[in-house]
Amino acid sequence: MSFDTILKGGVLPDGAQADIAITDGRIAAIAANIDAEAGETIDIAGNLVSPPFVDPHFHMDATLSYGQPRINASGTLLEGIALWGELKPLLTHDAVIERALAYCDWAASMGLLAIRSHVDVCDDRLLAVEALLEVKKQVADYIDLQLVAFPQDGLYRSPSARANTIRALDMGVDVVGGIPHFERTMADGRASVTELCEMAADRGLMVDMHCDESDDPMSRHIEQLACETQRLGLGGRVAGSHLTSMHSMDNYYVSKLLPLIAEAQVAAIPNPLINITLQGRHDSYPKRRGMTRVPEMLKHGIRVGFGQDCVLDPWYSLGTADMLDVAFMGLHVAQMTNPADMRRCYEMVTTQSAAIMGLADYGLEVGKRADLVVLDAGNPIEAIRLRATRLLVMARGKVIARRARSPMQLFIPGREAGIDRRFTVPAPD
Ligand SMILES: [Zn+2]
Repeated sequence: MSFDTILKGGVLPDGAQADIAITDGRIAAIAANIDAEAGETIDIAGNLVSPPFVDPHFHMDATLSYGQPRINASGTLLEGIALWGELKPLLTHDAVIERALAYCDWAASMGLLAIRSHVDVCDDRLLAVEALLEVKKQVADYIDLQLVAFPQDGLYRSPSARANTIRALDMGVDVVGGIPHFERTMADGRASVTELCEMAADRGLMVDMHCDESDDPMSRHIEQLACETQRLGLGGRVAGSHLTSMHSMDNYYVSKLLPLIAEAQVAAIPNPLINITLQGRHDSYPKRRGMTRVPEMLKHGIRVGFGQDCVLDPWYSLGTADMLDVAFMGLHVAQMTNPADMRRCYEMVTTQSAAIMGLADYGLEVGKRADLVVLDAGNPIEAIRLRATRLLVMARGKVIARRARSPMQLFIPGREAGIDRRFTVPAPD
């Protein structure tokens, strides 16, 4: 038996040590010791080998545009939307493609190989839609790019948004988006949820809405989203992104809402870096965190995936395409500090988000596509703690990024020279 590649001695996310054999772009075997011929054998002993990172919520049409045409001085969501409105008419097809491809290079280098990106359809030229459909083709050998038709200025609030959403879906955009809390009235918001869910049901598509991205405890469009999901039989194919208003809702109401979301099988996508930055802006002190109720949703069996949302764009002036930054922030804001919760935070930027995106070929299993990342960490919790260096990224069985382990050299007399800040938690007595 001969394989194309064998990765020797990696540590799987569940802690087991295993060799992984790859042939024809797929995982051919996973076992404690694979003693066979291979075109290349790569030693990854003691390093975490994981399925790739997944970002279930991103804006690739806006990424890396920071500073164009100016920066967001207040840092608020609303100034961000206004600023994006100024930038939109200035966009060109080539510039959107160039920025998106540059971002995809960053993503590939970080082992981030599946991205769901919203694309604004409120520009009548649908220039960003065309550009990102082109990017999707260009990166298909290493990144699964899923696009969401996103009527940023409101399905009803913006005169051509409804027609443009339909045009974008006709052009091949994968997922139906929405922004009910940004419509002019609660009633319009509710109606937009119903119409968009019906659109998705008619076309057999998934739904992912920006939903209740607000500190207003009365912003309750998630209720309608869950209800329409049930009515139209869309369970497992619908996600509510942000859901920040839930942070501020009345506890009694939430006790009724969470079982509804669970029964409807609607997934939740909080975006910790952005939620902690944009929410609570109208507060003095105490200042709300604004992130939705992640541990409570998990307790109710609701699927949750963490998204990154923004990198260097009108809404966020930082970001590195590192989903471990996202997990790190989410863990802190949600206070998910016990080991099981911390491991769950890692799953929320890998397997859980892959399930939300419906990625059937994803995972470290025999027969699945050989997409993976090797990290300079011993386990998923350590990966989050260190925001660990990516040592190797493989897509479709090919190495697409690689770097040598390079511990910092210390020059302190009497102390060891090499330092990498890895830490082994002692086993309990
Ligand atoms: Zn977003």
